[in-house]
Amino acid sequence: MIQEINTKTLNMKTRIQEKYKALFGEEAPVYASAGRINLIGEHTDYNGGYVFPGAINFGIMAAIKPNGTDKVKVFSLDFDQMSEFGLKEEDKPKEAWACYVFGVCRETLKRGGKVEGFNAVFAGDVPLGAGLSSSAALESTFAYALNDIWDNKIEKFELAKIGQSTEHNYCGVKCGIMDQFASIFGKEGALIRLNCKTGEYKYFPFHPKGYKLVLIDSCVKHELASSAYNKRRESCEKAAAEIKKLHPEVDFLSDAKRLWLDEVRDKISQEDFLRAEYVIGEVQRVLDVCDALERDDYETVGEMMYQTHFGLSRLYEVSCEELDFLNKLARKMDVTGSRVMGGGFGGCTINLVKDELYDGFIKAAKEQFTAKFGHAPKIYEVVISDGARKLQ
Ligand code: ADP
Ligand code: MG
Repeated sequence: MIQEINTKTLNMKTRIQEKYKALFGEEAPVYASAGRINLIGEHTDYNGGYVFPGAINFGIMAAIKPNGTDKVKVFSLDFDQMSEFGLKEEDKPKEAWACYVFGVCRETLKRGGKVEGFNAVFAGDVPLGAGLSSSAALESTFAYALNDIWDNKIEKFELAKIGQSTEHNYCGVKCGIMDQFASIFGKEGALIRLNCKTGEYKYFPFHPKGYKLVLIDSCVKHELASSAYNKRRESCEKAAAEIKKLHPEVDFLSDAKRLWLDEVRDKISQEDFLRAEYVIGEVQRVLDVCDALERDDYETVGEMMYQTHFGLSRLYEVSCEELDFLNKLARKMDVTGSRVMGGGFGGCTINLVKDELYDGFIKAAKEQFTAKFGHAPKIYEVVISDGARKLQ
């Protein structure tokens, strides 16, 4: 597998360098960053809880070099398109993909960093919009590169925030910090537990020897997603506010003990109760998974993933028929762990599968899913890899 990754990286790097040479007549250093998975810790971010992401072997790569002007010329190999723009606020490019690059330039400048004109060519292999955060990979590649090229000495956490602010201010996406955080901080063989309330983080070893980590993309996205998301947030806020009346230290649901939720059972709706029950359970499950990883106990990790899926499906009610189908199939085929990953209502399941069961599981998932839903799922085998970096 590592061999495969190296080959894949080399191929992409070569393509980028060749295009850069053809367009700009010289060579340029190459930077990269990665998409991400989140092993566990779903819908916990806005509740002040933990998330547990890692960078993956799907990423973005860019050759970048100053060009001595005040203009940026950036070429997207995947869209086969050039975008040119200045660095002032009013220079926002018309190509949607270029807004990510422009936003990173602007957010770096806003933080007092230096950015001048540059030429760039980039490409990637993170599937767009599949829940692996291709946008964070793109932002993080450029945020890291500009910081390195102009020696701005912006701290890593702030580089992640540059990506997040880019989404907020230039791409119209009000995202949290997890994706950019994972993309910037990711390390091979390690997942990172991030406390979304305090910003504290800790690396945990992730070396699932004898297992594979695989995403099955249902390729559906149900309409409900954004209105349901807002409703879930409201439920959590209501439950937290009620608990706070008895326990003033509770600012977020993640601060509450399970028992405290029972104390307000009569004060909140049954629906809000179930939502809160999921969140409080999920915060604990992240901690349990971290403990299990320190013992190399991947069976417990897997069991927690199933519990998360149950919670997301039955208590939080953000799953859907396609995802429940994939989860049930995983259970039936003795897959170690499986759950919906991301906000829900579509997207991928993330699965921890023993090597010897892998081929059979993937074959069954493809066949049975296609038979039931009329289209094939997509399969992404992922390996926890390095995040933002300069390539040698
Ligand atoms: P995701 O969940 O993958 O982050 P988004 O909709 O947030 O999905 O971001 C996808 C957008 O990011 C694309 O529409 C495109 O503008 C940009 N992008 C991602 N990867 C690439 C790429 N390889 N080349 C050009 N643009 C990309
Ligand atoms: Mg995105």
